[in-house]
Amino acid sequence: PRILAIETSCDETAAAIVEGGKTLLSNVVASQIEIHKRFGGVVPEVASRHHVENMTAVIEETMSSAHVTYEDLDAIAVTEGPGLVGALLVGVNTAKALAYAHQRPLLPVHHIAGHIHAADLIADIKYPAMALVVSGGHTSLIYMPERGEYEVIGETRDDAVGEAYDKVARTLKLPYPGGPEIDRLAANGEVTIDFPRAWLEADSYDFSFSGLKSSVLNYIHNANQRKEEVIQENVAASFQASVVDVLVERAQRAVSAYQAQQLIVTGGVAANHALREAMGKTFPNDGDVELVIPPLSLCTDNAAMIGAAAQVVWEKDVRAGYDLNGQPGLAIK
Ligand code: ATP
Ligand code: MG
Ligand code: FE
Repeated sequence: PRILAIETSCDETAAAIVEGGKTLLSNVVASQIEIHKRFGGVVPEVASRHHVENMTAVIEETMSSAHVTYEDLDAIAVTEGPGLVGALLVGVNTAKALAYAHQRPLLPVHHIAGHIHAADLIADIKYPAMALVVSGGHTSLIYMPERGEYEVIGETRDDAVGEAYDKVARTLKLPYPGGPEIDRLAANGEVTIDFPRAWLEADSYDFSFSGLKSSVLNYIHNANQRKEEVIQENVAASFQASVVDVLVERAQRAVSAYQAQQLIVTGGVAANHALREAMGKTFPNDGDVELVIPPLSLCTDNAAMIGAAAQVVWEKDVRAGYDLNGQPGLAIK
């Protein structure tokens, strides 16, 4: 099927058209980063309002750049959750209106399934597969015994990794979003500070980043108090080294315990250069495990990934009614 997908779970107003879950016909993302920058983070009410303002133009551009009309579409898909409720509602209500007006089935998509199925757009997922989802709100290891089955085997017990990046960046007085800023600084820094790594219990696949975050924040505050120079590049590189060590160790252990054929690394933080490099070294694609990391533009929020995941929803014969609602805390299943 040819699917129009809509994504508004956070601060990106996005639409895309995907065919058969694999072929991207068009992909439009209107980012609100510039708007939220001056607040130092996403302001939910402001995000919702801008989604309303941008939605129509984003969909029109998506349709015209794919050279399709509604007659050419088989379904309308939308992110149902998780995310900011007011933001989700804009996408959900738009999708409902389009599905009703054009009498097309409505496909509800889980945002994290979207991040995972971004992989379908660049590779054939081989099952059993393992996905490491690292984003602004999630740090999860998800085991997929087969297509359409998701089993969360580990997740963060406190901060998501992207959240830790953003908070550390804020303390370094870097602009929002902090992830790409830290990434850039770290490239010119050295690992000079031994920040902690939360290994947790030996058999756990969970994560914890709040201890690391506090430790970095304390380091900066102490240095400031003692009027010692804080070399931002080195703080960034040291913080990032700690994050990457833990993510690589967990992924490696999960892949081998579950005998996964593939490891998919996805979500906004998968845009991180150090993480991509470390994963590439650990899984060199010459062994049993194939590493799949979507390109940067498919790692951060977009609707192409929602269109790819919608294909799975279509195959499972799941359809939403006009009572579909935004679900801020929706679990993956
Ligand atoms: P979720 O997907 O959990 O609902 P979200 O949609 O807000 O959360 P994404 O858009 O997937 O999250 O990812 C945004 C996060 O990714 C932010 O925390 C941002 O700082 C981080 N990020 C983006 N690029 C990089 C990078 N190059 N290095 C590290 N972090 C990055
Ligand atoms: Mg975002
Ligand atoms: Fe996301």
